[in-house]
Amino acid sequence: MTVQFIEPDRADPRLAIERRYTMLVGGRSVAAASGRTIRRESPVHPGLVVGEFPDASAEDVERAILAARRAFDEGPWPRLSGKERAAYLYKISQAIRDHAEELALIESLEVGKTLAGARSEMNNCADLWQFAAGLVRGLEGSTHNALSEHALGLVLREPIGVVGVVTPWNYPLVIASERLPWALGAGCTIVLKPSEFTSGSSLRLGELARDAGLPDGVVNVVSGYGNPAGQILAEHPATDMVAFTGSQRVGRQIGAFAAPTIKRVGLELGGKGPVVVFADADLEAAANQVSRSIFSNQGQTCIAGSRLIVERRVAHEFVQRLEGLANRVTVGDPLNPDTKVGAFINPVQLGKVESYVKAGREAGARIVVGGERIGTNGGLFYQPTIFTDVRPDMSIVRDEIFGPVLAVQQFDTREEAIGIANDTIYGLSAVVWSLNIDNALQTIRGIRAGRCGINGQEGAAEMPIGGYKQSGQGRELGHRGFDEYSEFKSIHINMAPSRAWL
Ligand code: NAD
Repeated sequence: MTVQFIEPDRADPRLAIERRYTMLVGGRSVAAASGRTIRRESPVHPGLVVGEFPDASAEDVERAILAARRAFDEGPWPRLSGKERAAYLYKISQAIRDHAEELALIESLEVGKTLAGARSEMNNCADLWQFAAGLVRGLEGSTHNALSEHALGLVLREPIGVVGVVTPWNYPLVIASERLPWALGAGCTIVLKPSEFTSGSSLRLGELARDAGLPDGVVNVVSGYGNPAGQILAEHPATDMVAFTGSQRVGRQIGAFAAPTIKRVGLELGGKGPVVVFADADLEAAANQVSRSIFSNQGQTCIAGSRLIVERRVAHEFVQRLEGLANRVTVGDPLNPDTKVGAFINPVQLGKVESYVKAGREAGARIVVGGERIGTNGGLFYQPTIFTDVRPDMSIVRDEIFGPVLAVQQFDTREEAIGIANDTIYGLSAVVWSLNIDNALQTIRGIRAGRCGINGQEGAAEMPIGGYKQSGQGRELGHRGFDEYSEFKSIHINMAPSRAWL
């Protein structure tokens, strides 16, 4: 195995950025009332603290919820014109662009992702805010002019209210930016709780929103653990919705926490994305994209293509191409511009990957490449790994591993490929590679997943995202993203004189 490792450079001045953050509650920068903090150590440079976040208690979060409640019930935000709300969203978009380098560095150090990747994510974040801003002025309800001669129906779009947003660690600001502009644009107020591992960029986002002049309490950002901080957002009677992105395990809990108050629950959960490669595909382009999808961000991506389903007659050749790419990948210091695969978020996640690889080996799957941890001064690195000779019942095929581990299955007919792709509880993403567009379309139509690609795996602010099956409920982005945070009020206007009932 020739994974090239670049030793992290502790003399790099960018590592001297240990930051102490505050939360944003009701427009004020605050510490946790208890004074407790969570220290984030770099997953690349053990012992180096790269962030210190307030550890919010239930009371701290409740204060944030009540600030958002007040801003919604009494403040100007839900009553502003679309034009005014759009202007704020544009300002925040610009602020993200202006601070992209700082935000990217924060995420690279806290998450372990490559700085180059984080920079492009920050551009994407700014674009999400900008796109949503552009649509806000066009938000509309509907009218019904054919109810009867004497009646007119109006359907008004109104904001759902206070939204608790709980986000994961793998793409902190991207996920927040897939939710906040749409919720704010609809007229909602927010309490955002990022992951306890990677809160820095979200806490900075709160400051940028405040500096953009957003009225107090419209955006509140609290940092802390799932329990109690995230749980309170789901449970509290003063939140009207909880928008959660994360694992299935916690997603199910969120649903249960929210049930007693019958609030709306948005869930963006995990996946086990199938990638179907037909023999007539551009195999070079497909191999490049397949390897990028599963190996970049260390495989810690919800839409990673972790199940390769390849046509039998090109399977050997295609896997050889992937093996060649895996051998060329540069793993190591995320700040190095040549690095393609950075570090794991924490030892638990790395241990989880190791135990899945062990289980795959013991179940009889064959490792083509990878399969080992890369030992370097305690940094959390793992080799890009490919398994063949897998069976559908193996855990490496069934479970979301959230690591750079690809399981390869083979097919002979389109129907067989669709069957294998659908043999999962997940339905987040799918990709089909074929230069025959009819074939590609027929295949993708047969696969039950929300975020699909043909001959590539790009996303766009214009297109809704969300999961089928156990990958979630609700849709983000595009025009539909606003419906997620809207109530629809129907008003029946009776224009005929009313008759006495009795
Ligand atoms: P996680 O479920 O462990 O945590 C997500 C968030 O929930 C964190 O902020 C955490 O503090 C909070 N949380 C934990 N326990 C909680 C509780 N009891 N009550 C309320 N909140 C709680 O997920 P993770 O490990 O941070 O992220 C990885 C998962 O996220 C993967 O499954 C991945 O597929 C998924 N994900 C999905 C998408 C998507 O768009 N569908 C995007 C990114 C990540």
